[in-house]
Amino acid sequence: MSAALPAQLDPWQAVARGAAFAGSLALTDLPRLRELLVPAALDAAAPVTFEIAFRRDEAGRPVVLGWVRALLPLQCQRCLGVMEHSIDASVRLMLMQGPNPGQDPPDPYEALPVIDDRIRPAELIEDEILLSLPQIPTHPVGVCQAAVQTSVPAGNAGDAAPAQAPAGRPNPFASLAGWKASP
Ligand SMILES: [Zn+2]
Repeated sequence: MSAALPAQLDPWQAVARGAAFAGSLALTDLPRLRELLVPAALDAAAPVTFEIAFRRDEAGRPVVLGWVRALLPLQCQRCLGVMEHSIDASVRLMLMQGPNPGQDPPDPYEALPVIDDRIRPAELIEDEILLSLPQIPTHPVGVCQAAVQTSVPAGNAGDAAPAQAPAGRPNPFASLAGWKASP
């Protein structure tokens, strides 16, 4: 059973009743993520989809399990063009009381700090996406528009002859051409 995502909820109660949520969120509704995306590509971008379930695991720990998927328009840091980055992340969180629980959760969980018995589930989903982003997004080599320029090894750069003489330098054959044209 899954229901629409509330703006906020009591995660301890959600665990107690085994609450589950599935649905989608527009990228424009995730402000921290939105700042990292190419603005011009946002209108056409697909929404984030997710499924999360609050429950107790076999050891009785209060956990949130599920997945988050997204296709994000990032800016390639090599050619500055748009690149679509696909995210398919597992959600494995353990509820922990307070902003500084003081201990790490056991594997495979990451901590979900709970303050005042409240969490905002959309922020939880946004966090999972932010954690899955590449530090420096770039197209794969061969796709990137800048790949040809950056693939020249630095040591050979000096051997490459310039395609054209720098502007301003006189053509050494110009006077010869003039001499040939004269009677
Ligand atoms: Zn690129």
